[in-house]
Amino acid sequence: MQDTPKNQTPQENTSTQGTPIGSLGEFGLINRIANTARLKNESSLKGIGDDAAVLNMGEQCTVVSTDLLMEGIHFDLMYTPLKHLGYKSVAVNISDIIAMNAQPTQVTVSLAISSRFPLEAIDEFYAGVRAACDNYQVDLIGGDTSSSIKGFFISVTALGVAKEEDIAYRHNAKVGDHICVTGDLGAAYLGLQLLEREKKIYLESPGVQPNLEGHDYLVGRQLRPEPRQDIQRLLKTLKVKPNAMIDISDGLASELLHICESAQVGCRIYDENIPLNQKTLEMAQTFGIDPLTCALSGGEDYELLFTVDNKYIEELETLHGISIIGRITEMSEGRKIYNKSGSSHDLIAQGWKHLSA
Ligand code: ADP
Ligand code: MG
Repeated sequence: MQDTPKNQTPQENTSTQGTPIGSLGEFGLINRIANTARLKNESSLKGIGDDAAVLNMGEQCTVVSTDLLMEGIHFDLMYTPLKHLGYKSVAVNISDIIAMNAQPTQVTVSLAISSRFPLEAIDEFYAGVRAACDNYQVDLIGGDTSSSIKGFFISVTALGVAKEEDIAYRHNAKVGDHICVTGDLGAAYLGLQLLEREKKIYLESPGVQPNLEGHDYLVGRQLRPEPRQDIQRLLKTLKVKPNAMIDISDGLASELLHICESAQVGCRIYDENIPLNQKTLEMAQTFGIDPLTCALSGGEDYELLFTVDNKYIEELETLHGISIIGRITEMSEGRKIYNKSGSSHDLIAQGWKHLSA
């Protein structure tokens, strides 16, 4: 789950010694860890560096993904109902399993809870966990429980299964592949801006009731994302095998750059092909933000971004809910976004980076 824009750098006694982690950023830190993690077991087919790790279990592979969600960094309980939080915590991990083109099967959920939460709050949270488990037919198989001095922390691990040949690794994007995205982008970010706006109004004048009427779509996209298992199934039925796939948690630009970096390729996308909902266009205007920026850098849409061979393209063009936004190119061509008038600029990742000061 991406970080909410507020409170990105937790304030703590900062050490005067050592290198600030912000100088590396989140992905720099992960790369540093990855570079020292040597895989020792033949069954570890893929370790750090994709939406999920892949383990060879004989006939099938097991895929594993884990996420840590911190109160005040990833969610704000002032406007996040606990039931939605339970749902979303499971859903975003299932999304990572689906992004590997695997079938989600189990989750573990671990919590650290401060004394401010009554039993009823935890029941609400687990009602959401259960709803997500039921919707995606996964089993809650374990977890861990601890007290926390302050705040609510959630760690979810999701497992899934896939045949090795079906797995869509980021590194498998091929030059000439078409780049596709599901659904529409940028709405979850605007939903968050709306919730933040109402929170601010409420804090300034507690008598004023939040006004979210007419904004169900945007707020729903933020609070209750749905992993695109429907599209994964549709592709399977049509026998369309994505070469590379990733879920959009940090914004289209960041995710596409992850694919390009892993596969050592370039890309060319067209901004007019990026799918935007009418509600997104209207609210972006209200906030005075470019809707494309919301799609490219907003994040938390949990749509799928995937690349497919040219042979599938006629079939994909006829499908509702999938947009073809560009092509994978040679690395030497760079990673570019084109506008209608034909001019281009470099694609840059501007997602929220809580570790960069
Ligand atoms: P996502 O946004 O899909 O959750 P991340 O950017 O969090 O992905 O993680 C990218 C990769 O880095 C994954 O393979 C993940 O397992 C790995 N990773 C992230 N943090 C750590 C860590 N502290 N130690 C080891 N691997 C990590
Ligand atoms: Mg993660």
